[in-house]
Amino acid sequence: MIDIKSLREDFPILQRKVNGQPLIYLDNAATSQTPKQVVDTIVDYYYNYNANIHRGVHTLSQEATDKYEQARRTIQEHFNAAHPYEIIFTSGTTHGINMIASGFESLLQPGDELIVSAMEHHSNIVPWQMLCERTGAILKVIPMSEEGELSMEAYDTLLNEKTRLVFCNHISNALGTINPIKTIIDKAHAVGAAVLIDGAQACPHIKADVQALDVDFYVVSAHKMCGPTGVGVLYGKEEWLEKLPPYQGGGEMIAEVSFEKTTYAGLPHKFEAGTPDICGGIAFGAAVDYINRIGMENIAAYEHELLEYATDKLLEIDGLRIYGTAGKKTSVISFNIEGIHPYDIGAILDKLGVAVRTGHHCAQPVMEFYKIPGTVRASFAFYNTKEEIDTFVAALIRAKNMLL
Ligand SMILES: *Cc1c(COP(=O)(O)O)cnc(C)c1O
Repeated sequence: MIDIKSLREDFPILQRKVNGQPLIYLDNAATSQTPKQVVDTIVDYYYNYNANIHRGVHTLSQEATDKYEQARRTIQEHFNAAHPYEIIFTSGTTHGINMIASGFESLLQPGDELIVSAMEHHSNIVPWQMLCERTGAILKVIPMSEEGELSMEAYDTLLNEKTRLVFCNHISNALGTINPIKTIIDKAHAVGAAVLIDGAQACPHIKADVQALDVDFYVVSAHKMCGPTGVGVLYGKEEWLEKLPPYQGGGEMIAEVSFEKTTYAGLPHKFEAGTPDICGGIAFGAAVDYINRIGMENIAAYEHELLEYATDKLLEIDGLRIYGTAGKKTSVISFNIEGIHPYDIGAILDKLGVAVRTGHHCAQPVMEFYKIPGTVRASFAFYNTKEEIDTFVAALIRAKNMLL
């Protein structure tokens, strides 16, 4: 079981006040808060062993290299990748997706087909649209239901021998739906297509096992799972990473350079040109250690309790509609109150110390599907409490009474 009271002490930011009120942070789907253990790792790096990696013989460089490569192994173990070199450090999910979209350019022919889900974050739509423009490939969409679930029957009809790549999020950031990615992956493989899963919203809640999933690419951002911003990883199966061309040219990604011919470094360096966010990578490793000490299963069970508690309370409010009522979902609640613009609710909640997100959540096609401009989204982490949910619901009722 989770001892919330002592865990909350790891997050100094949770003690602060906003507009004179104690902060209630319910915007975890946009970014999670950072525990002291991760911040301490960042401070330790800059105070004690800040140096460039892989190139130096001196002690600091070796210490930094060891810690960076240790973080890679920590992340490898967490996602159960077969090899550390299948873990490529990126600046985040968006970067990881763009790397693969760019890599596929040389592998696609006009008329090849790509399949995307109807509930993607813009970062898993736009790079593929750009790729289609460059290659003449065609983008098809798996539709979703009113509850916010993808239609596997429709997916079956989209798949064929021209399908090259399928991409889908593991969990929708707009609705909280947990997608049936194992089915999606298996069906794609049956027609010879590769699959990229956007794990940005899943990584704080579910421990993905990339080998059990047999997924080809899985991308995450550290800042969604208690790590710093600006760093993430791309997991890629070795055979795919070998097949794809390098993403950027520069230092670190080469074996030999001359003006006649340059040969590329092996994995993972082929995809890691230039000096990376060394400190960020090490801190990402510390974040993974931190959440594993709590236990992903403990986190999921507690967050599910919060989700059910908050859902019940919210549904008591007249005129409130929740978008995304899938059978399997995580602690994300998107909603609107009839007759009120989501932005107005968000602004009043902020005055009352409650941080929620309002708008389209970088998923405009989902908003279009429901024919709404946006929603209010409350998303919970393991450091939130039922008392906070009570305060949030009371604040929401106050906001409603002021606005209607
Ligand atoms: C947050 C998020 C992203 C984008 O992550 P960045 O860190 O901004 O690159 C992509 N997809 C989903 C589902 C997300 O929740």
